[in-house]
Amino acid sequence: MLAEIITIGDELLIGQVIDTNSAFIAKQLNKIGVSVYQVTSIQDDKDHILKALKEAEIRVDIIILTGGLGPTKDDITKKTIAKYFDDTLVKDESVLDNIEHLWKNYVGGKLLQVNIDQSLVPSKSTVLMNKLGTAPGMWFDKDDKTFVSLPGVPYEMGALIEYKVIPKLKEKYSLPFILHKTLLIYGIGESALAARIEAWEDALPEYIRLAYLPNLGKMRLRLSAKGFDEGQLKASVDKEIDKVLPLIQDKFFGFEDEEGSAEIIIAKQLTKLGKTLAIAESCTGGNLAEQFTKNSGASAYFNGGVVTYSTQSKMNVLGVSKEVINEYSVVSGQVAESMASNSLKLFNSDFAVATTGNAGPSKGESDAEVGTVFIGIANKNGVYSEKFNLGNHRIKVINKAVNKALEMLLK
Ligand code: ATP
Ligand code: MG
Repeated sequence: MLAEIITIGDELLIGQVIDTNSAFIAKQLNKIGVSVYQVTSIQDDKDHILKALKEAEIRVDIIILTGGLGPTKDDITKKTIAKYFDDTLVKDESVLDNIEHLWKNYVGGKLLQVNIDQSLVPSKSTVLMNKLGTAPGMWFDKDDKTFVSLPGVPYEMGALIEYKVIPKLKEKYSLPFILHKTLLIYGIGESALAARIEAWEDALPEYIRLAYLPNLGKMRLRLSAKGFDEGQLKASVDKEIDKVLPLIQDKFFGFEDEEGSAEIIIAKQLTKLGKTLAIAESCTGGNLAEQFTKNSGASAYFNGGVVTYSTQSKMNVLGVSKEVINEYSVVSGQVAESMASNSLKLFNSDFAVATTGNAGPSKGESDAEVGTVFIGIANKNGVYSEKFNLGNHRIKVINKAVNKALEMLLK
């Protein structure tokens, strides 16, 4: 079963808005065994939409469009689809009720004609009621093919995909069940990992597929299984995981779907233990702290952090001694350890992590080679640090350093 996603909106093509809708939809379709053959982004332009529809209809079974359903003149998707199906727009009372309800609760005053017009839908479509917004989703059956038009606003689109489109597609096409299970692995490269698990991988049953998804020092190893018996799939995937875990025990940190990524696992462990964390950053510039504060519940364990970027601030704010800096350099294990121990005290925490390094592109205040990063970890019993060489691309060095720090915290 093949699908194409067509995202519509001038804003996507001038780089103002990043098309996150298609990634979300692709993920959801994948879960039910529908492969996305192509993603197309086009302007709010009648001819472009008609052309995209015509081409997609030749290629795939399921065509999902997002965007261009708003009340303004630039939003022309609905009229254009009606034209494509040689259809007319008719008023849908349930959609009008929904619009009136939303208007009364969130806007107030007299309903505008442009919003009343949003209750017009092509007569051949089935309305997918959008409780979160005034533009309804629309579903069209054309022989065995399905066309779905959804609003562009990500959370409205997301709810419609999850609760309306996916269940309807499963029913219409009696789709198989797809199971993904993703293992989070830190501190081993792709080739080394592949070598370790080669025999296991070769012996996997053919309905279980394996994907390596490396990303700047962290790795996701995904098992995907496809079949009609959900219980049996789960059992056989679990069996394979039981076999592979002993081979990667020292590098395995959890399952993505259940636990989330490293920072979530760390957060859960700290919260459970009632322990707290402090962060002292130099080259990572606050990115490490952000990994924790971006998720809710951080206040339970995250006491605070500092970005001491200059040498002076490492001394003034964190009390790193001038002698240590002069003797070992500001990019050194000793300084990382001092930053970690001192921030542990400063924030009265149980654990602290510190970064100091040179992210490049040129040599900075220290003589350290570009890409050299030291990470220190402290707790009440002691402190240690590790040295890393993380390449010469500034943003990558920063992200890898963040991942290395998370990896060290996990241990
Ligand atoms: P409405 O105008 O009623 O909000 P709409 O269907 O017309 O809905 P658009 O106007 O196309 O939707 O988009 C609304 C907003 O949704 C855009 O400003 C944009 O921020 C976001 N958006 C649209 N398409 C995408 C997309 N493919 N990925 C991420 N965001 C998107
Ligand atoms: Mg638009």
